[in-house]
Amino acid sequence: MRRRKTVFVDADILVVGGGMGGCGATYESRYWGRDLKIVCVEKANIERSGAVAQGLYAINCYMGMHWNENQPEDHVRYVRNDLMGLVREDLGYDIARHVDATVHKFEEWGLPIMRDPETGRYQREGKWQIMIHGESYKPIVAEAARKAASDWNQALMELGETICTPQSPRCAACPISRWCEAHAQGLANEIPAPRRKRVAVNIKIAAAILCDPQGHTLLVKEPGAHDHVLFSRMWQFPAVEVKRNARSELTNHLRTTLGMNGITLTALPEARHGVTFRNVTLLPFLARVDQLPANAGTQVRVLPLKSIARIPISSATRKIANAATSVQISQQPISRLAAVQSAVRNQPPPQC
Ligand SMILES: Cc1cc2nc3c(=O)[nH]c(=O)nc-3n(C[C@H](O)[C@H](O)[C@H](O)COP(=O)(O)OP(=O)(O)OC[C@H]3O[C@@H](n4cnc5c(N)ncnc54)[C@H](O)[C@@H]3O)c2cc1C
Ligand code: SF4
Repeated sequence: MRRRKTVFVDADILVVGGGMGGCGATYESRYWGRDLKIVCVEKANIERSGAVAQGLYAINCYMGMHWNENQPEDHVRYVRNDLMGLVREDLGYDIARHVDATVHKFEEWGLPIMRDPETGRYQREGKWQIMIHGESYKPIVAEAARKAASDWNQALMELGETICTPQSPRCAACPISRWCEAHAQGLANEIPAPRRKRVAVNIKIAAAILCDPQGHTLLVKEPGAHDHVLFSRMWQFPAVEVKRNARSELTNHLRTTLGMNGITLTALPEARHGVTFRNVTLLPFLARVDQLPANAGTQVRVLPLKSIARIPISSATRKIANAATSVQISQQPISRLAAVQSAVRNQPPPQC
């Protein structure tokens, strides 16, 4: 897992959240702030974040002052009424004064606003709303905010990706090293402190490759302690985590889960598998059967062993399957199979 890097950024104006409000604040900050360093922090992808992520079909408030459709006093009356008098009328008035200019700006930036073909005015729905093709609303506004916040954020991300990497910061090549406190104090390699590595755990997993005379095998989806880490909850061979004796515990597992009795298990070559802090030894066993269990439930799948690679399986299951195909076990009758167990590894490769 990649470590997260903490990036410290000085800002004159910090905008938290890059939704419609944040993008607008970032844009306005640049207009009024000119030379200030403006940083907009957005937890998601600013192109599609916030309530407008998917787009809107209307802009809820447009005055249309230049067409004398509404005046700020009308808006104040409306909000006073709507909010039963609990309103700062001066703010309502101020919003009304400026909202048209903002909407015109959106149109300049490329937002398609529907117009009445006869009058040329914006098409309304109700007294205040105007209709838009708003799928691109958020990306358009985000782009304006991005430009307003300049290249600062992007530059920082690229710095973290190319120079100030968590594993080996290249301070000698760093363009901001003279302002860097970690570098000044000789702590560039210590900050952030690496996460403590988990102690490795050794696990043994015994798996049964059942095989009928037609070369079919059986896969299961078993909920269990090891399934999600090892088999990724995909189709897998019946398997147990071994505590003491792989063969007897697997035999017992086949009996209790699939109702299979009297199974002879032939050990196949082991395989190694590593998952994060787990060192796994895979112990595959071949179990030749006359017939695979019928009606063993929906969590069971029968298919030719040679076709197993065609379905999504984890790499651990693939390694187990490889163990079967790497040694040839001839189509011996079950009663004779035990006799050839010791010679299994020297046989030519199997069809099953
Ligand atoms: C379903 C729906 C339909 C609507 N339809 C219309 C309409 O047709 N016309 C209209 O005018 N209005 C409409 N609105 C209202 C309008 O979309 C919202 O009022 C407006 O988008 C709110 O903007 P905002 O910036 O205040 O909040 P948001 O858009 O919610 O933005 C907040 C941002 O902050 C980010 N954030 C949150 N926490 C953190 C954190 N810890 N660190 C960094 N970033 C963070 C979020 O990812 C998000 O991008 C609609 C709203 C909804 C939900
Ligand atoms: S000087 Fe070193 S530690 Fe500081 S930002 Fe640059 S690469 Fe990172």
